[in-house]
Formats: sequence, C-alpha cells, structure tokens
Amino acid sequence: MANEPMSKHAFPEAAGFDACPFLPVFGPPAVMFARGSGTELWDASGKRYLDFLCGLAVTSLGHANPVVADALCSQSQTLLHVSNFFANDQAWNAAVELNALLEEATGCKGQVFFCNSGAEANEAAIKLARKFGGRGRHVMVSALGSFHGRTLGALAATGQPAKHEPFQPMPEGFRHVTFGDIEALSAAVDSSVAAVLLEPIQGEGGVIPAPDGYLAAVERMCRERGVLLIMDEVQTGMARTGKWFGFQHHGITPDAVLMAKALGNGVPVGAIWAKREVGAVFSPGDHGSTYSGTALVASVVRAVIAEMRRIDAPKLATDTGAYLRGKLAAVPAVVSVRGAGLLLGAELATGIDSGAVYKACLADGLVVNAVNATTIRMAPPLNVSREHVDEAVAVFAGALARVQKEAAQ
Ligand SMILES: *Cc1c(COP(=O)(O)O)cnc(C)c1O
Repeated sequence: MANEPMSKHAFPEAAGFDACPFLPVFGPPAVMFARGSGTELWDASGKRYLDFLCGLAVTSLGHANPVVADALCSQSQTLLHVSNFFANDQAWNAAVELNALLEEATGCKGQVFFCNSGAEANEAAIKLARKFGGRGRHVMVSALGSFHGRTLGALAATGQPAKHEPFQPMPEGFRHVTFGDIEALSAAVDSSVAAVLLEPIQGEGGVIPAPDGYLAAVERMCRERGVLLIMDEVQTGMARTGKWFGFQHHGITPDAVLMAKALGNGVPVGAIWAKREVGAVFSPGDHGSTYSGTALVASVVRAVIAEMRRIDAPKLATDTGAYLRGKLAAVPAVVSVRGAGLLLGAELATGIDSGAVYKACLADGLVVNAVNATTIRMAPPLNVSREHVDEAVAVFAGALARVQKEAAQ
C-alpha cells in the first residue's frame, strides 16, 4: 500500500518550527508540494505552480519524467544494491557512460567514483587533492562566495566565512581568494597548495560567472605549478549552462570534475571524475561509501544521460536560455541578467527586495529563488516549453510590479 497522503491540516506553515518534524536548519516551509509533472507542480491544496527552480537545478528533465520513473520502477524490481566488494551491471555501465561524456568534454580518459551528494563529491575531491599533493602539500584554494556543500570539509572549502562561524574551528588546509582575480590566486598558490577548486558560475553565490579569460589563466597557472584544477560542476554540470559542463565555455581541461544535482534528476547521487593519471593516486581503501554506485541510482544516472543526449539537452538549454534571458531582460525593473543557458540570475533595480519578489511569485504560482538580496535565480527544466517560459515571465513581471508598487506606497 502506498504511504498515506499527509493531511493538509498537519502542515505547520502558520505554527512555525514547533509544529515542524524537521530540525530547524531550514526556515518553516512555505508550501507543501504533493505532485509534479514536467515543469508543473501542485501543492497539497491542489494549487498549480510553474517550477522555475527544479529543486536547485536538480530536476532538469522535469518532474515525474517517464524515462527516470521507468528506470526506478524496473530497477527496483530487479536489483537495488550489492556491496562494493562486487560490481553491479548498472553502476559499471553508468560509469562507462559518464566517463565517455567527460572524455568528449575534456579529450582525456578518466575514471569515476559515485557518491550520494554534491558535498560528498567535494569531500572526495579534497581527499584526492591531499593524496595527490602528499604531506605538507595539502592546501586547497577556493573562491570567496563559493559554495561546495555542508559537510565539514566541503564547508571549509566554501568561501563564506559566516557559514563557518558557528562551527569553528574549521579543518586546517583551506584558503580563499577573490573570485575572478588571477593575481590574488597566484599569490595564494604556494608550495603548500595541492589544488584549486572553482565553480565556473558561482550558483549559490548569486549566479556569478567566472570573468572571461579567468579560468584559462587559472589553468595555465595550475599547469606551471603542478597544482590540480578541480571544477565543482554540481550546479552547472549536466547541460544546465548550454554545454555538458560549464568549464567547456572556457576552453579548459580540469583534472577532476564534481557532479551531483541534475545527475539523478531528484534521486540522490553525486560523482567525481578524475583524469586517469590523477585518479591513479588513490589505492583500495582510500575512499568509499556504502551506497557508491548502488544499482537503483546508477540505473537513473544512465537514464538521465541517455535522455539528455536524446533531447540534446545542451542545445535546449542554449536556445531556451537565450529566449528566457531576452524576456527577463525586457522586464522593467530587471537591470541585468547573469548566467548561462538555463541558469540565470535576474538583477533587480535598486530598492526592490528579492525576498518579497520570491514570495509574490510563489503566491502567484511561480517557484523561483531569491539567491541574494537583489537577485532572483531561475533554473527551469532544460526541456521547458516556450509557452511555460512566457507564462512564467508574465507572472514574474506582474509580481515584480506589485512588489515595486507596494514598496513605493
Ligand atoms: C548544491 C551544491 C553543492 C552541494 O551539494 P549537496 O548535494 O547539497 O551536498 C556543492 N557545490 C555546488 C556548486 C552546489 O551548487
């Protein structure tokens, strides 16, 4: 029997934290969602929304995607899990297919380790960098404003001091520099540094793209100094920016690439890919996870890659992204639009509170995110229709106008 649907009377929106069964690490939830299909969501009361956030760039093939659902259903009736003492055919093939994707993107042969989240992909990268560098050469340099996850190592790599503060002391061996400043990076990369870790577009940091030429300069410096270049593509990877990986816009070849979010279309999975000669520093016993490449999840990864290839997801993200970007730029009170493909940040005119715009959009049936005080982030499914883009931008423009009017009163 299926789980009982939750009574909407049990929803604690008004009651706040005390009535909530979750630890209070998120704010009291604003909406209880019950169902989704493609770009649409319905809440527990039956109200319809357009989902222009996709979790956080997670459900890139839309909700209840039949290809993903079929993989889950059939694999769950075949084989869920065996330990990593053995292989399972789904994980093996998922790794082969992901390696092929990365080889197309980098021209390099490599190998993959599956984990369960973006933070875990970052943890694996930190351990890979430390093993690569050796004792005394273990430091990882990342950018201010970056986001790499919430586990202790990934948090230490995250360049947001406010997020560190309640949990001090942080693990040793992390250094942060201004994003986009090659001089600052160069000064930070001394003989104690094993790796540089960067996002091609800072997602949680406000949809901030790397400036032109920056990543190419970073790559040159890393090569000169024998330091690894690791790209965190947890948010930007899997076609989101109009190419399979964000680094491809910059003509660079990273040593390792981190993935999660859209890789499972909502099923928890992460991965680190490393060039063969870099990954070869790991030996049996150095790393692991009970659920690494579990058959159920690996079958979904395969379905996601195959479906994204079939629909040419990078081209959809490029074309629909340009269309959405043009429409957003034409909204009065949007001063600029940042990002690439279908990962976009609309910068609001001075004095407009993005949090109020987010709430007004939600009230009108549009899910977006106030990524910082002045920016609304949008990340719709890569296969979103133009009709849904038109509808979403109309809702956004209306909500924005209402907030502006209310602020002026
Ligand atoms: C979301 C995100 C992470 C963390 O992923 P989790 O699955 O939440 O652990 C890491 N890096 C980047 C760039 C992200 O956007």
